[in-house]
Amino acid sequence: MSEDELELARSFHGHLGPFLALGMLIGVRALEFLRARKYFGVKVVVRCPPNPPQSCIVDGLQLSTGATYGKRNIELIPSDDIVVEFINTDTGEGIHMLISGDTIEKLKGWLNELGDEGATRMVISCGEELFELAQR
Ligand SMILES: [Zn+2]
Repeated sequence: MSEDELELARSFHGHLGPFLALGMLIGVRALEFLRARKYFGVKVVVRCPPNPPQSCIVDGLQLSTGATYGKRNIELIPSDDIVVEFINTDTGEGIHMLISGDTIEKLKGWLNELGDEGATRMVISCGEELFELAQR
C-alpha cells in the first residue's frame, strides 16, 4: 500500500486505523482474485460488529473496491465475526474473506499498544496472514 493511498484513506475516513487498513488490503485482493471491475462490477456484503473500530473496515472496503454506500453496492450486516463477501456482478462469481476472532483481538491489541498509525503499519506488514480467502 503506497503512502498516497494511506493519505487518501486518512482524508476520507478522518484517521488511519487497523480495520480501515485491513479493509483496503482485502478489497484489493478480492478484486484481483475475481478480476472484478472497481466501482461498478462488484458487490460487497460485510458481516462485522456494527461499531468502530471494527466497522471502520467498511470504509477501507469502499476505498479499495469502489463499492459505496451511495451506489448501494456495499452493505453491512451486524455480526460478531468478520466475513466479507465479494461478488463479481459481471460473472456472478463470489468469494468470502474470513477474519478470525483471534485476528480481531490482535488488531484491537495493536490499536491499544501502538495507536492508529502503528497498528495500521502492523496490518500492512502482516498483510495476507490476517485473512483467509474462501471460494463459494
Ligand atoms: Zn476508523
